[in-house]
Amino acid sequence: MKTSVTKLSPSEGQIILWKAGYGRIPTHTELAIRGINSSESLLCVLCFKEPESMDHLLCHCEVVSKIWKMWCFMWNVQLVFPEKVKDLIVV
Ligand SMILES: [Zn+2]
Repeated sequence: MKTSVTKLSPSEGQIILWKAGYGRIPTHTELAIRGINSSESLLCVLCFKEPESMDHLLCHCEVVSKIWKMWCFMWNVQLVFPEKVKDLIVV
């Protein structure tokens, strides 16, 4: 029996979620932690109210939340957002 490599490898969405959960996506906050943020402000570029982090962008940003709510309404889906992106990762 031949097993496809694509069935064994994680999907692109799983990889992005893992990177987001472990601080591997270069948000303003992550770049500042590494000392390479050249931006004067760490604020979220969408709402300008909170520091830009993956937890903020995916779980708490009011702009992104509006988009998720519209998407949920269109597809008749209910979502419950976790406090942290890492909570979405199932080991
Ligand atoms: Zn925001």
